[in-house]
Amino acid sequence: MNEQQHRDQEHEEFDLSSRESQMKQAHRIEPWLGRTFTCGSCGQEHSVPLRKVVLERGAMAALPFYAQERGLSSLLLVSDGRTAEAAGRKLLELCGEAQLQARQCVLPDDEHGELAADERAVVQLLLHVTPDTQAIVAVGAGTLHDIVRFAAHRTGRAFLSVPTAPSVDGFASVGAPLIIGGFKQTIPACSPEAIFGDLEVLATAPRPMVAAGFGDMLGKYTSLADWELGRLLLDEPLCDLAADMTRQGLELCIRHTADIAAGTEEGLRKLLEGLLLSGISMLLVGHSRPASGGEHHLSHYWEMKFLQAGRRALLHGAKVGVAAVKMAALYREAASLDAEAVRASASQRLADPDYAAPDAARADIAAGYGAIAGQALAENAAELDPARRVVLQRQLAERLSSRWAAVQAVCRAVPAPERLAELLAAAGGPVTEAQLGVEPELVEESLRYAKYVRHRYTIMRLHEWL
Ligand SMILES: [Zn+2]
Ligand SMILES: [Zn+2]
Repeated sequence: MNEQQHRDQEHEEFDLSSRESQMKQAHRIEPWLGRTFTCGSCGQEHSVPLRKVVLERGAMAALPFYAQERGLSSLLLVSDGRTAEAAGRKLLELCGEAQLQARQCVLPDDEHGELAADERAVVQLLLHVTPDTQAIVAVGAGTLHDIVRFAAHRTGRAFLSVPTAPSVDGFASVGAPLIIGGFKQTIPACSPEAIFGDLEVLATAPRPMVAAGFGDMLGKYTSLADWELGRLLLDEPLCDLAADMTRQGLELCIRHTADIAAGTEEGLRKLLEGLLLSGISMLLVGHSRPASGGEHHLSHYWEMKFLQAGRRALLHGAKVGVAAVKMAALYREAASLDAEAVRASASQRLADPDYAAPDAARADIAAGYGAIAGQALAENAAELDPARRVVLQRQLAERLSSRWAAVQAVCRAVPAPERLAELLAAAGGPVTEAQLGVEPELVEESLRYAKYVRHRYTIMRLHEWL
């Protein structure tokens, strides 16, 4: 029996042959692991390279057995100063007991006493990857995973994951958001092939990181709505299965807000499950669209500005949570407009020669991005092309008029900003920019410029037409 047949047999109980049977499994992790199937929703072939998820007390002990089964006998365990203490050392022992050759690499902190996913960290890790290294194991939170994800992918080593905090949905994803030359960009890399979420280790995660994971999930309210806007206004492909999977992960977390806030084992498990569902949804479609919209662009913008100013980084999910409240406010504003008002402002926009020409957008990018404007210009090349810009704008104006009822329904489905704020507060995360530590001026600036972080349709891009 070959490997694929073996896996098919293992998964026999999960029928993924029709749209209906696929949608029925959208709330679960297990049915998708290692599967390749034709999607009943979007018609594409989806493939999930993640083969195994162990989410329980003592899950780390399953890692050496998995490595043996896979014939991986030489492992590099990568952690930072904090996670080496919380998990790295224990894992090294477990690997030793299983007669595996394992070495520990502890990535040093930067001048702010933290780890950044940048060129420096990547090279520091690569120095430890020797010709005999067969697998690289990330023992840490999101940033550490992104460094390992990139290194494992570029050196062709197997990538295994031990998340030490349920702080982001990026554990299972393919893209590695790295800061290169001060600009945050997501570089295609690979997902881990197995994730060992040890509840004993996760219980040692600092509370702000747990709240940040919850904030990253709350951002799915707005990222999913942004994706719907892209479908309605620009015919962007949308996979209902992937969108539903993200939504189910989000709802799982909302249902367990109290447990997550209290940091109970059940709460940590549900939060990590939600984050992994969001990650698997990104694996299905091969990009971060289901999980990352305007709220992430705002967060990335703040991050870049902090970096340029040499300031200490803020937790990703904490920023996303606060940014989601801002996006929800824009959604509410859009929802309140009637078709007549939208038609009037869209035709005014269309007639505005300053807006039709790409010069104003170029100037905005120069003003917002300064030294890194080059990357932002490249990212937005499609809409800065004069001919394409005209076509795009005509289509937008027409669709805004003819499809406003549907657009408005998407806007109305986003919870009120007060509701998101209440949920964030319940989980113990920052709610306002002041609590987060971002100045009101920077928030205002980002609401104008952050839409250029990615060439992706979001409520920020809709908002400028209203
Ligand atoms: Zn699909
Ligand atoms: Zn995120």
